[in-house]
Amino acid sequence: MPQSNTKPTVWVLGNGQLGAMLTHAGAPLAIDVRAVDIMTPTDEVLPIAPEDIITAEREQWPESNLSLQLSRHPHFVNGPVFARLADRYSQKSLLDKLQIPTAPWTLVDDHTPLAELYHRYGPRVLMKRRTGGYDGKGQHWLKQAQESVIPSDWRNHAIAEQAINFDEEVSLVGVRTHTGECLFYPLTLNLHQDGILMASISPLTRLAPLQAQAEAMLSTIMQDLNYVGVMAMECFRVGDTLLVNELAPRVHNSGHWTQAGTHMDQFQLHLRALCGIAIPAPQVNFQCVMVNLIGIEHDPRWLSLPNAELYWYNKEVRPGRKVGHLNLSVPNQTVLHDSISALQAWLPSQYQAPLAWILAEFTRQQY
Ligand code: AMP
Repeated sequence: MPQSNTKPTVWVLGNGQLGAMLTHAGAPLAIDVRAVDIMTPTDEVLPIAPEDIITAEREQWPESNLSLQLSRHPHFVNGPVFARLADRYSQKSLLDKLQIPTAPWTLVDDHTPLAELYHRYGPRVLMKRRTGGYDGKGQHWLKQAQESVIPSDWRNHAIAEQAINFDEEVSLVGVRTHTGECLFYPLTLNLHQDGILMASISPLTRLAPLQAQAEAMLSTIMQDLNYVGVMAMECFRVGDTLLVNELAPRVHNSGHWTQAGTHMDQFQLHLRALCGIAIPAPQVNFQCVMVNLIGIEHDPRWLSLPNAELYWYNKEVRPGRKVGHLNLSVPNQTVLHDSISALQAWLPSQYQAPLAWILAEFTRQQY
C-alpha cells in the first residue's frame, strides 16, 4: 500500500517563476507546494490546514483575501521579516545596527537639502525608492554637474546612497535552519546591466578568500532575524571588502546556477529548512554559468547546447521582463567556449557584453 504523505503542504505567496521552481523542487521530496496567484481578485478560500507552512516568493504583495489568508496563518515563516527587508529604510537600519558594511545612506525627507547630499556623498548620489524597486527600477541618480533636483514625489519615499565605485558585484545565498544552523553556497559573481541581473558565475576560486567574510555577514543577519530558509545577500566588492547592497528574504535569481551546479539547489534547500528536513552541506558538482533570458522569444536552438539546462517561465514576452534562464555547466573550457560562441550568434545585441564578460572571466582563470 502506498504510504500516505504526512508532510505539510507548503503554500507560496506568489506564482511567478520562483514559485514554479519551488513547486518543481518539492516533487522529489514529495512535498506538495502550491504557488498562489495573489494578484487576480477572487472570492476563493484556500484549503490551508493548521499544520501547513506558508512562504513567499516576493517581499511585497497587495492586500487581497488570498494574501491575507496566507500571511495571517500562524505558520507563515519569517512573517515580520518581509516588510522589514522590503523597506530600504528598515533594511539599511538593520545593517547599520549589526555593523555590517553597506553604502553610506540617509533618508530623503521634506527637509533634506540636495547640497548636503552632494557634500556628504560626492557629486553623484543614487536615490532609491524605499519600497517596490526591483531589477534597477525605483532608482534615480542625482548629478551635481547636471543640476539635478529631487523630484517632490521622491521625498519621504526614498533613501539617498553614496555611489560606490565597486570592482564587481557578488552575492551569497545561504540557509538557516530552525535550530540556527547556517549553510552557504560558494559566492557568485554577478553582472548587472541597467540594474538587471544578466549573468552569474559560480564557484570561482578567486572569490574563495572572501567566502568567510560573506558568511559571517549573512549569518549575523539571519541569526538576528531568527530567520528560517534561504536568504540572498547581494554585495559590492571593493578591494578585499564586501559592502551589502541588498538582502532578499527568499530564493534568488543569483542562486539559479545551483539547479545545475549542486546536488541540492536553493529551492530544495529552502523547502528542507521550512519543513525541518535534514540539510547536509550542498555539494558543488560543476562550475556553472547562468544567463538570464530577458524580453526575448524562446529559441529552440538553446536546447541543442550540450551543457545547457533551459528554464523557460512561459510568461508573455515583454521588454525587460525575465522570461527564462539558461544554466551552462562548465565540465571544461572548450565546452563552455563553444556554447558561449553559439549564444553570441543567437542572442541579440544587449547580450554581447555579458557573453564577453563570461569569456573574459574564464580567460582570466587560465592565468
Ligand atoms: P538595486 O536596485 O539596489 O538592486 O541595484 C541594482 C543595481 O544598481 C546594482 O546591482 C548595482 O549595479 C547598481 N547600484 C545599486 N546601488 C548602487 C550604488 N550605491 N552605487 C553604484 N551602483 C549601485
